[in-house]
Amino acid sequence: MTQARILVCGPDSYFVDDVATTCAGCAAAIVHRPHKPPDVVLLCPACAGALLAANVAAGEPVPTIAVTPETAREVEAFEAFTNPKGGSH
Ligand SMILES: [Zn+2]
Repeated sequence: MTQARILVCGPDSYFVDDVATTCAGCAAAIVHRPHKPPDVVLLCPACAGALLAANVAAGEPVPTIAVTPETAREVEAFEAFTNPKGGSH
């Protein structure tokens, strides 16, 4: 079986242009960014965790988890906004 790239998407929306969709595993409501890679399987955190655990237990390679540079910049900006002191915990 071809290894799919997965994108872990949460149910909470943080940006006005988030795109609502459903998890490919359980059909839970999730959101993704409009600039997500085109060739990824969208999974909620629970399904992604279950898939990774199953892969590890079976000794199979785990899927690549996709994070685009733009997503990384957004996460960095969001973290700086919500935790301006730089994570002293
Ligand atoms: Zn799911």
